[in-house]
Amino acid sequence: MFRTIKLKLPYDPSILETGRQFREACQMVLDYGFSAHTFNKNKLNRATYEDVRRRISTLSSALVQTARDTASDALKQTKLRKEIRRKSLTIRYDRRTFKFYPDSHTISLTTVHGRLVFPIANSPLMEKYSGEYTNAQVSIDVKQRRMFVMVQVEVDKGVENKAETRDVKVVGIDRGIKNIAVLSNNKFFNSAHLKDVKGRYRYNRKKLQHAGTKSAHRKLKELGGRERRFVLDTNHVISKQIVNLPFNLFALEDLESAGMRTKRNGRRFNHKLGSWSPYQLEQFIKYKAEDMGKAVVCVNPKYTSQKCYRCGFIDRNNRNGSIFHCKNCGFELHADLNASRNIGVLGKSGYFRLLSTSQSLRSDESMPTGMREDSSKPTPLGVGS
Ligand SMILES: [Zn+2]
Repeated sequence: MFRTIKLKLPYDPSILETGRQFREACQMVLDYGFSAHTFNKNKLNRATYEDVRRRISTLSSALVQTARDTASDALKQTKLRKEIRRKSLTIRYDRRTFKFYPDSHTISLTTVHGRLVFPIANSPLMEKYSGEYTNAQVSIDVKQRRMFVMVQVEVDKGVENKAETRDVKVVGIDRGIKNIAVLSNNKFFNSAHLKDVKGRYRYNRKKLQHAGTKSAHRKLKELGGRERRFVLDTNHVISKQIVNLPFNLFALEDLESAGMRTKRNGRRFNHKLGSWSPYQLEQFIKYKAEDMGKAVVCVNPKYTSQKCYRCGFIDRNNRNGSIFHCKNCGFELHADLNASRNIGVLGKSGYFRLLSTSQSLRSDESMPTGMREDSSKPTPLGVGS
């Protein structure tokens, strides 16, 4: 699938002159094609190439060829019914004549002064679409003194599904003890039922341990298996409900990165909820989400519970038990809900960072702004205006 990224270029005399020569080359082919009544590229090439090269010697051979293609397309479009006078200074580029470096925000273009590198303005689309950049078009507006480059991207399908900003619907998930999971869309999964059942098991276990008979021992073993299956089942049910929600990106705290997977925390969870573990839930969410083509990201949980979702103010005292009350802006919310919303925001940006890293791995080397790619010709830098 193809996508186009429109980027602003500096208004540059080398590009302007290239546009003029490109138009002239185009016009020569248009005139021939109309008089010979053909838009066949091979015929046009055979008849005009040498002529164009001789008359416009500073236009590179590759640009002469794209000018011929441009002319051929125009002739085809008008079905050779009328003569065409080309006014547009638009230049067509292909993989021989341009290279796009999204990481360094530069693009190198073949011009009448050789290959030059130009800085380009930032665009959110550069992060959004990664893939192969095979075609480009430079448009020149002389009146407004503006130049743009439209870079065509062949978007990798897998990446695009996940990469479209507007299509990413994130939900943040905060895991805890009182609430197994609190979602940023106001959904709470509390642990009351889990605790109830766990309590019953504990009570029965104690009774059986007390009896101490052989049959009690056997029953105790059975009970252990049933309890494990119950926990497993609970995590299956919750994770299934979560991944079935209309979101395609699930953000969780990376418990390990914050050192939360310590013995102390393990005990904290264990004491309250028996063998229930937030890690099992995480694993289930991960594999169920992936099965559905949805994504899961883990974020650094530092400050997620202290930071105000509304104003970003971070303070330990913002949180008081289950209430979050911002000392800066007065924002008040359930503390787990505030955390889950912070997790959601972090998850979304973390996800796009991941995507752009995989993009930078794909494009070869990056080049610093203002450097020339080809130093064989003594020409000015491609930074104009
Ligand atoms: Zn605040």
